[in-house]
Amino acid sequence: MAEKFGDYRGSFKCASSVPPEEAKELHEPIGVDLHNVHQHDAVIVGAGLAGEYAALELKRAGHDVAVLTKIFPTRSHSTAAQGGIAAALANLEEDHIEWHFFDTVKGSDFLADQDAAELMCREAPLIVYEYEHMGVPFSRTPEGKIMQRYFGGHVKDFGKGQKVLRACMAADRTGHALLHCLWEQCVKLGVRFYAEFLVLDLIVRDDKCLGVVAWDLINGGLHIFHAKATLFATGGYARLYNISTNSRANTADGLAILMDNGYPIEDLEFVQFHPTGLAGKGFLITEGARGEGGYLINDKGERFMEKYAPSKMELAPRDIISRAEWQEIMEGRGIGGEEYIYLDLRHLGAEKIKERLPQIRELSMKFAGVDPIDAPIPIQPTAHYSMGGIPTDINCRVLADGKEKWLEGMWAAGECACVSVHGANRLGTNSLLDASVHGKRAGKDMAAYLDVVECWEPLPMDCAVRAKEEIEWLLTHEGTETPGSIREEMQVNMYRKCGVFRNEKELVEMYDIIKDLQKRYRNIRIDDKGVKFNLDLEEAIELRHLLQTAEVIVASAINRTESRGAHWRTDHPKRDDENWLKHTLAWRTEEGVKFDYKPVVITRFLPEERKY
Ligand SMILES: Cc1cc2nc3c(=O)[nH]c(=O)nc-3n(C[C@H](O)[C@H](O)[C@H](O)COP(=O)(O)OP(=O)(O)OC[C@H]3O[C@@H](n4cnc5c(N)ncnc54)[C@H](O)[C@@H]3O)c2cc1C
Repeated sequence: MAEKFGDYRGSFKCASSVPPEEAKELHEPIGVDLHNVHQHDAVIVGAGLAGEYAALELKRAGHDVAVLTKIFPTRSHSTAAQGGIAAALANLEEDHIEWHFFDTVKGSDFLADQDAAELMCREAPLIVYEYEHMGVPFSRTPEGKIMQRYFGGHVKDFGKGQKVLRACMAADRTGHALLHCLWEQCVKLGVRFYAEFLVLDLIVRDDKCLGVVAWDLINGGLHIFHAKATLFATGGYARLYNISTNSRANTADGLAILMDNGYPIEDLEFVQFHPTGLAGKGFLITEGARGEGGYLINDKGERFMEKYAPSKMELAPRDIISRAEWQEIMEGRGIGGEEYIYLDLRHLGAEKIKERLPQIRELSMKFAGVDPIDAPIPIQPTAHYSMGGIPTDINCRVLADGKEKWLEGMWAAGECACVSVHGANRLGTNSLLDASVHGKRAGKDMAAYLDVVECWEPLPMDCAVRAKEEIEWLLTHEGTETPGSIREEMQVNMYRKCGVFRNEKELVEMYDIIKDLQKRYRNIRIDDKGVKFNLDLEEAIELRHLLQTAEVIVASAINRTESRGAHWRTDHPKRDDENWLKHTLAWRTEEGVKFDYKPVVITRFLPEERKY
């Protein structure tokens, strides 16, 4: 197992060292203001848990680091995480790292790379204790230890036992507590934040990354960030769907930018639907609510999970529960025949709900007019998480060919990356863990690289041209379509045709819809023609990123003719290890999406039938 970070000694030579002033002059001819060229040792795109943990490690190692984020750092989606972060601390009952490792692999439907999954589970207790020492206000047991709750798919004794208390929690505001703590630490150490900068492009030459091009959302204007080491920690993309738990910022920018530069993306067909989104809206009601003992009931008042996962019931993994709910709805047992069912917490009692689940009580009252102390909450499956992403190795280095070749100077971590620890389905609470562990690992590996690379490579003259052309086109083009209508059509159709259940006919229809929407995008018009805080402009750019990513998700879903984890094909309802125990690598090209594959890393647990 690769415990060590890169040994970069003697491996890197600089072509020449470009002092900052000369680097700035290089850009005058292409219209980037001299004051808008910045040089940093490391540039991190994204201020969620992954980006901020990396920044902290780099700063601790004495490097100059800048974090770019299109929204204010503490508004990154990590702050919305509710239920907890997984670690086999065994604070309340017996638990082992090996059990956590097994659950992660089984939960992934055996598509996770086991070297990466094992490493993540081993580092989990260390990262949780580090958070504790930094000051995270975890909920506490009566003896003062970190409180842990149940979560789906986390069980005892290599899957043979009962549920286990493994999710470390700060009430139902765990992400908020973690992110605010990291942010304080970064500010304390003097990490430089560039908030409200929208990254538009990578600067790459000969498979070497030299930084990024960004748009200053507040003042307008293109900026160049010239770096020796660049990290993408740009988060997920479930805003592709109309029913979604994700914040508005989760628009696949990092993935689309990699694809724009000709690089592959891994396993995009695997999109997680969370079983408990507020009906009609998608806002998350944490799995912690079921961890605390909540029931799912259909129109007949039945706890229908008895039919689908008799031993784990409401604490089966998310893919299985989402399919069970959709099945109930399709067979007419949604509440009043509608597209939702109930999450019932009433039997938990007012005290427990107020102490352990205060935020979801508030959400239910504000957005569904329901107080869960007195009435069940109407819920439906909601798009939640992206298992696939930018292919990286175990030290978070981006793979230019998806397999072995490093895109030098570039790392990716958190939800935008695919290491792959979640395979075809992620277990709840493993994502805050993934973002923290890999953010930290990326930071350490980048620091090791920066210890030996002393200079900035010269920038290509045309590095900002593509971004400039895109901005100019959007600000001047007079078409008849609006980004809003295109986005809505994409989102509504993605939920129907590339959702919990999939089949070839609907996926092919969806592919044609996306191609048509991309054509219509060429005819858009944005109303705001200004450069300052132009949200029309930002949303149009994000829409292009979403459309590109949707194209690859759907093409990958058509291509994978089996059912595994969150990718369920009603026309191919069986897992097919003989042909499909492998990762998808997809390139977006002029001629359509091209595929290649790489094997799954299996170190310890051989694939078996996945029953709960
Ligand atoms: C409602 C909800 C609840 C959740 N609950 C849990 C939970 O209890 N436990 C768990 O383990 N997981 C949970 N998750 C999942 C988990 O929160 C995320 O997967 C994880 O926090 C992602 O962290 P990240 O650092 O990768 O990205 P994020 O926190 O999403 O941050 C992305 C960053 O990238 C920046 N960015 C993106 N594009 C650009 C661009 N073009 N230019 C500049 N900046 C850009 C954004 O500004 C932001 O700062 C939940 C998710 C949701 C939506």
